[in-house]
Amino acid sequence: MSKSQALVVGAGIVGLAVARALAERGSRVVVVERSPRAVGASIRNFGMVWPIGQSAGPLYERALRSRAIWKQFLGEAGLWYQETGSLLVARYPEEMAVLEEFMQMDGRASVRLCTPAEAAEKSPAVRPNGLLGGLWSADELIVDPREAIAALPKWLEERYGVRFHFGMAVTYIEHPYVWAGRLRWEADLIYVCSGADFEILYPEHFARAPITRCKVQMLRTLPQPNGWQMGASLCAGLTLIHYGAFAQMPSLPVLRRFFEEKYPQHVQRGVHVLVSQNAAGQLTIGDTHDYGLELDPFDRMDGNELVLSYLNEFAHIPRLHLAETWHGIYPKMTDGRTELILHPEPGVTIVNGLGGAGMTLSFGLAEAVVGG
Ligand SMILES: Cc1cc2nc3c(=O)[nH]c(=O)nc-3n(C[C@H](O)[C@H](O)[C@H](O)COP(=O)(O)OP(=O)(O)OC[C@H]3O[C@@H](n4cnc5c(N)ncnc54)[C@H](O)[C@@H]3O)c2cc1C
Repeated sequence: MSKSQALVVGAGIVGLAVARALAERGSRVVVVERSPRAVGASIRNFGMVWPIGQSAGPLYERALRSRAIWKQFLGEAGLWYQETGSLLVARYPEEMAVLEEFMQMDGRASVRLCTPAEAAEKSPAVRPNGLLGGLWSADELIVDPREAIAALPKWLEERYGVRFHFGMAVTYIEHPYVWAGRLRWEADLIYVCSGADFEILYPEHFARAPITRCKVQMLRTLPQPNGWQMGASLCAGLTLIHYGAFAQMPSLPVLRRFFEEKYPQHVQRGVHVLVSQNAAGQLTIGDTHDYGLELDPFDRMDGNELVLSYLNEFAHIPRLHLAETWHGIYPKMTDGRTELILHPEPGVTIVNGLGGAGMTLSFGLAEAVVGG
């Protein structure tokens, strides 16, 4: 039997993960990417493969599967990564209450509550003053997204024979044909992984879907002095109201009300703070969250200041001089779902809507979507 021919639109992490899953299953795969190199959400993130944010059960399992594939790719490609784990520091009783419930209800083996002293051991950045404790998770992995998303196509080419066409925007699809202007491909299986672009391909399907965009502002420091290492990736209490893993905790509404009073601006701008460190010793810090189909093209410094002032409350960073700021935009489901899978016509599948967890979930999701 001849191999099926598959075409994937988009070389962000979702398209690359789908290309890998298709190639694993035996398809001949072509990827078509609009830009000369992918420059969307997938290169603009923290590089956190972050199972702790996923709720127990299938999503957590999917995150662990993705993590295993990341490690295989990074190992074979000889790329930097760090199994830092993550630490969420708690400074208020309302935060500790949610963490204690999480420990009782979630049951994953890789997490534990830690004392202030243990938290400080996990990261020299942690401020001990007022610290009540923390949640340590061993699962989290940091990759360098700029390096990894650039290297994945080469790995897919060499390992699986996937072919890439960069600098070509797919303008129209009618199965089995795919056009980029007048250029045409033919494929049995077509996957549309176009990220935050809802307007070019199947716009009527995106218009009907419960999906919007989220703009996220990010900051990066200069390398930390004297090889200073942050250890665990860090976050604090505000993160608890942003991730599915904690959504079902009975005390979460109490914590949310507490934050609405204590940090009204942070809640309004969707600010919570995550920090990761790259191979060069730089810290990547974020983030704000603004939602809508039409987003302000300009970055607001008041949002970045909220991020930095909150960071300063729970972490001491030796060198907080900024080297870069930027923003990224990811698609976000508005109905609580964790992905959007649509079949706009036979043979065509749209894979989208992974929100702030595409680096964590894409490899596992792609295997589930493509099938065995
Ligand atoms: C600032 C920020 C921080 C984040 N941090 C994390 C994190 O630490 N951990 C985590 O798990 N997730 C994180 N995320 C989320 C994650 O980055 C996204 O879920 C993920 O990158 C989405 O991948 P994607 O492939 O759908 O989109 P993209 O990376 O945007 O890729 C879509 C690609 O499709 C191409 N394309 C679109 N239309 C066409 C067309 N018609 N023809 C050809 N090509 C086309 C685009 O050029 C683009 O390259 C973060 C996101 C942002 C923005």
